[in-house]
Amino acid sequence: MGMLDHAGARLTAKPEEAEILVVNTCSFIDTAKQESVDTILEMARHKTEGRARKLIVAGCLVERYRDEIQRNIPEVDAVIGTGELDSILAAAGIQQPAPAAPSPFTILKHDAHADVRAGREAEAGTHRNVPAEISFRAEGDLREQQGRFRRDDWQGAAHLLPTYLYDESTPRLLSTGKTSAYIKIAEGCDHPCSFCVIPNLRGKFRSRRFESVVAEAQQLVARGVREITLIGQDTTCYGEDLGLKDGLATLLDALARIENLRWLRFLYAYPNRITGRLLETIAKHDNICKYLDVPLQHASPDVLKRMKRGASAEIFLKTIDKVRAAVPGIALRTSFIVGFPGESPRDFELLENFIKAAKFDWLGVFNYSDEEGSGAFGLDAKVSKRTIESRRRKLMKVQQGISKRAKQAWVGREVLLLAEGPSEETELLWEGRTQFHAPEIDGKVYINDFGRLEKLQPGHFYRAEITEAHDYDLVARVVSPSL
Ligand code: SF4
Repeated sequence: MGMLDHAGARLTAKPEEAEILVVNTCSFIDTAKQESVDTILEMARHKTEGRARKLIVAGCLVERYRDEIQRNIPEVDAVIGTGELDSILAAAGIQQPAPAAPSPFTILKHDAHADVRAGREAEAGTHRNVPAEISFRAEGDLREQQGRFRRDDWQGAAHLLPTYLYDESTPRLLSTGKTSAYIKIAEGCDHPCSFCVIPNLRGKFRSRRFESVVAEAQQLVARGVREITLIGQDTTCYGEDLGLKDGLATLLDALARIENLRWLRFLYAYPNRITGRLLETIAKHDNICKYLDVPLQHASPDVLKRMKRGASAEIFLKTIDKVRAAVPGIALRTSFIVGFPGESPRDFELLENFIKAAKFDWLGVFNYSDEEGSGAFGLDAKVSKRTIESRRRKLMKVQQGISKRAKQAWVGREVLLLAEGPSEETELLWEGRTQFHAPEIDGKVYINDFGRLEKLQPGHFYRAEITEAHDYDLVARVVSPSL
């Protein structure tokens, strides 16, 4: 979006108005693929029946089904993989603006895309022509040798894995409002989780330069952003490829010092990478949200072993105790997969008991999706879809009770609230978030009383009192603005 905007394209969120349509896709599980394909087909209709002239498909679906998309959906004019972002202007038929000073498009200057398109990369390994500024971890190199990133059995996928990383000079448009922004600090993943094809789609783990992340955060705050969420497939590995020890903690420490940055958080910690230094850093800075999202995936040691993640409920409970002791009041989010091949009733019971014992603030449960190219695809003892769904429902019911009781304890507390705007459900209410709610994913705080204020400003912070609690959501009354 930033590159298109920078080149003079006028962006619209209304497909019926657009001359060029870009569909950014996801393909890590079946439902995401289906949603992506449905959207492409819906947009294709704007081309055949409406005013659109070009249809471009970008993102992870392209990494997996490059040829098939173009073969099966002839309305698609161009495809752009996750490592080919700088091809967007050519695909859209828009002239690249003359670069002022050093060009932001310094990445992948060699025409690796041409190799991908011509299929010449097939025998050269998964990574070739890697830009000099990109480094990998020894663990990633080893996993590559073990075949972790191979996609030979994915018909239509290019063999060359993406190596792209944006930097602070890459043009960017915020789609998350003026106050809140995500910063991707690393890309790719070297972990061997057997259910997951994300490494095959995104490539080996690589970190953005430390100074680049800090510069981008400073620029965003100067533009009025007050909440920054750091993301990556695994943020807790940040900096390992750059030779940094405790890279994420060091980065958080530097970012927390940026004046006027009110909330800073990171998503997706790998459980055994939550170091004492990381927890100390979260505890030390008032503007680092007391919030940790650590996907655990399961609690049964047998299932975790087959998932190639390791650990157990006992180990996780110790980690959770350590986290809560180091950062009192921290909100914990996790997610689990139910129905992994071979998950027995005993494994499931173990998981259920673990959830009751751990009492997470926020929890997501995903149904196992059997993905071609993942290690688990070849495993036997698959669990039926019906059993998987009933297990998911059961866990969500358990969590509902835990959440309901925990949310009651919030009533009467005074909190700092970021007002987001009128509620989608009714104009009589506004919606907001506390530091314990990450954007878009956790429950909501509804504001039904503005106190002495006539109106609220979206993107502004307020002191508020929690007056009611529901299963997952809270209701608040504004006490005063917080400047
Ligand atoms: S750590 Fe996350 S992204 Fe990486 S392989 Fe495991 S599940 Fe996939």
